[in-house]
Amino acid sequence: MADEVYQNYINGQWVDGYDVTININPSDISDIVGLYSKGDSGDCLSAIAVANEAFEGWSQSGLEQRKVILDKIGAELIARSAEIGEVLAREEGKTLAEGIGEVVRSGQFFQYYAAEVLRLMGENTVSVRPGVDVEVHREPLGVVGIVTPWNFPMAVAAWKVAPALAYGNAVVLKPAELVPASAWILAEVISRSGLPDGVFNLVMGSGREVGETLCTSANIQAVTFTGSVEVGRHIAKNAIDNMARVQLEMGSKNALVVLDDADLDTAVQCAVAGAYYGTGQKCTASSRIIVQAGIHDVFVAKMTDAINALVVGNALTPGVHIGAVVDQRQLDQNLKYMEIAKQEGAELVRGGERLNLDTEGYFMSPALFVNTTNQMQINREEVFGPIACVIKVDSYQEALDVSNDSDFGLTSGIITSSLALAGHFKRHSKSGCVMVNLPTAGTDYHVPFGGRKASSYGPREQGQYARDFYTIIKTNYSKPY
Ligand code: NAP
Ligand code: MG
Repeated sequence: MADEVYQNYINGQWVDGYDVTININPSDISDIVGLYSKGDSGDCLSAIAVANEAFEGWSQSGLEQRKVILDKIGAELIARSAEIGEVLAREEGKTLAEGIGEVVRSGQFFQYYAAEVLRLMGENTVSVRPGVDVEVHREPLGVVGIVTPWNFPMAVAAWKVAPALAYGNAVVLKPAELVPASAWILAEVISRSGLPDGVFNLVMGSGREVGETLCTSANIQAVTFTGSVEVGRHIAKNAIDNMARVQLEMGSKNALVVLDDADLDTAVQCAVAGAYYGTGQKCTASSRIIVQAGIHDVFVAKMTDAINALVVGNALTPGVHIGAVVDQRQLDQNLKYMEIAKQEGAELVRGGERLNLDTEGYFMSPALFVNTTNQMQINREEVFGPIACVIKVDSYQEALDVSNDSDFGLTSGIITSSLALAGHFKRHSKSGCVMVNLPTAGTDYHVPFGGRKASSYGPREQGQYARDFYTIIKTNYSKPY
């Protein structure tokens, strides 16, 4: 790979930035994934300008053209998922299987929205005034600024870029500086798809410079962001100043409830997958496991056995269940929360240690705490690492109350064999996605995704609901005679 620099993509051209970012493999820090151009404010402003020009044509483009382009992008991602998934796993630290799965899912988003292009229907009705016809239809917005986090380096970009393009918008994408490779590959695939120049632009660089310029521009019509609450709040305030639309997906503190009548194997499988897969670096991760007293001890024993069987290691090694933490900063944060939990009186069952393996990387063992309360800092703040806490409760009602007692509300889950309690939980859980006998992580692409409270702001992402963000309604009145 040597000195090749992966450049920004602006107006259909590959352009250098003012510097380069070195993309490191967190499973093996001697492995450099590549050198990526680092853009500045000027690059971002150029991208916004050309996107505005390109929007004029793209917003009027035929639906068949859009469908064919999106379908082509999706098909290539799926066909190349093994190769691209390896790059993704190398730059982010999730396992190869998870990396490949993420690329396939990214392709599915493009193929789904390729089909959605043809379903962009309006409504016709009659006016309250006799003889007047009314049409309600949807139009593209303009330029959409897209800012993505490091934990799903391709899927988040895909689930935002695909609907933005499908509904006739132009895009400027700013991926997380830590993981530019997957977004760059997506841009390269898009560059050969037949999409007119300037409709899609990639500007890599820092959030503070490129992200800030993008989200404070008066020349974008919408900004969609996934990342931390702190940055999301800042972006929303800037967007309001420009009267730009804003959609935010942020952190969470998802609860998985395990009731006395739960199937024990299902409970353990869901808890382990939800808490630790993806190294716990998922906004949908189960970090609070709320367990009813009758099943508590046997559940903890069986979950401990399951954790002991998990293999932590280099993301590319076959048989590894838990890859690397994304970087030193996130690892330090995880270890800091381990200390906070212990100081608060949480009882460590196992894990939470820094691991030194064959390759030098950011590894830690999955951690389980018991005897925690929902008031502890470890149960209030998002850690974003492989750390889960058990909270013991006496009843279903207490479990529901504890699960809802959070500043966040992205996903929640319940493991039970009771149809009545599952039904009650679905109605009363204050989260955006509720899972019954399933892990809190793992969602579909054809239905809406999003949360409540500090987890989300603005219209839902994914599925057909995404069009509420990426289109604007027009109401036409006409008197034909
Ligand atoms: P982050 O620090 O908020 O960064 C997210 C993105 O925003 C990055 O591209 C970042 O750039 C950029 N950014 C930073 N400052 C900015 C600014 N002033 N203006 C515009 N953009 C700016 O979050 P992260 O560390 O990447 O991701 C971890 C967090 O994301 C966690 O809290 C997690 O819960 C959340 N998350 C939520 C979801 C969800 O769907 N709800 C999904 C994934 C992650 P840099 O590249 O320079 O950092
Ligand atoms: Mg990296």
